[in-house]
Amino acid sequence: MGEVEFNNENVMKCMCSGCPVQGTSECVKGKLQKMQEIMSEDIDIATVIGPEDVPGLYCASSEASCTDLYYHEECKCAECPVFKENDLMSGKPAGYYCRDGKAL
Ligand code: SF4
Ligand code: SF4
Repeated sequence: MGEVEFNNENVMKCMCSGCPVQGTSECVKGKLQKMQEIMSEDIDIATVIGPEDVPGLYCASSEASCTDLYYHEECKCAECPVFKENDLMSGKPAGYYCRDGKAL
């Protein structure tokens, strides 16, 4: 597996926005709103906001900057196309990138 690219395409495929780990986070809600506004204008996300402002694609960036996530819920990464395309199952960590950092 190689490094996961931080780009719009992968942000769109990422399933973190629907993950119950983030479901009750007010911090994530705010960041999602801002991110969706940017994406709707078809701007390359990496040129306007940093990975810390994107509440997802943690496999490409690092741990979540929001601190109100609930890690007792189940991670959705195993169902994600980015996870499959980049063979993240063979890397470490194999999920919960929001907690444990990017895929290596
Ligand atoms: S593997 Fe997980 S963190 Fe990476 S894009 Fe998919 S859902 Fe998001
Ligand atoms: S990395 Fe996994 S646990 Fe964390 S928000 Fe994304 S899908 Fe949920």
